[in-house]
Amino acid sequence: MPDSPTKPSFYERVAAATPGGETLATCLQCGTCGGSCPSGPEMDATPRKLFAMVMANMEDEVLSSNAPWLCVSCYYCMVRCPQQIPITDLMYTLKEMAIAQGRYHKDAYVDWSNSFVGYVEQYGRSFEFGLATRYHLTHHPLSMVRKSGLGFEMLQKGRLSVQPERIRNMPQLSAILSEAKQIALQEEV
Ligand code: SF4
Ligand code: SF4
Repeated sequence: MPDSPTKPSFYERVAAATPGGETLATCLQCGTCGGSCPSGPEMDATPRKLFAMVMANMEDEVLSSNAPWLCVSCYYCMVRCPQQIPITDLMYTLKEMAIAQGRYHKDAYVDWSNSFVGYVEQYGRSFEFGLATRYHLTHHPLSMVRKSGLGFEMLQKGRLSVQPERIRNMPQLSAILSEAKQIALQEEV
């Protein structure tokens, strides 16, 4: 539905809610972000496409997309973006907007985000083997067979671990995460 003349457009609201969000207007549509994104193949719209949809004020389509929920906040796209657009932060803004509209509970991919956060809280880092296994078993059990060869090769080359590894100074990270949660709670009040 088009925005009324007096109401900021969807694009303007997304840009205003994101630090540095005004740079979205400089997006070149180069696709570097989507090509770098580890979750890209599972997204129904890559960051490049999603941002084109934001610029076109396609609010319903953008807030229904699974892309922000599959973003694991690795920041790789931001490091590579030639325009230094805060892609990861924009993903957070879109998630917040979807939650505000009550759309998140309809999306099965929320558990992907929760699993990622759970591993970071417990071990201080992501656990790719656990994340991928849980995701595929829940959503695409048949694709486990197709991907098993790749997984086995990565295991052989030491690029994948079957057990999560805890970082050395976990108490320090836990204190930082706890402080961050307190700040977030205070900002909500
Ligand atoms: S990498 Fe940056 S400039 Fe290129 S499409 Fe993605 S957001 Fe736009
Ligand atoms: S921060 Fe999110 S969108 Fe960017 S590359 Fe990582 S998973 Fe993809």
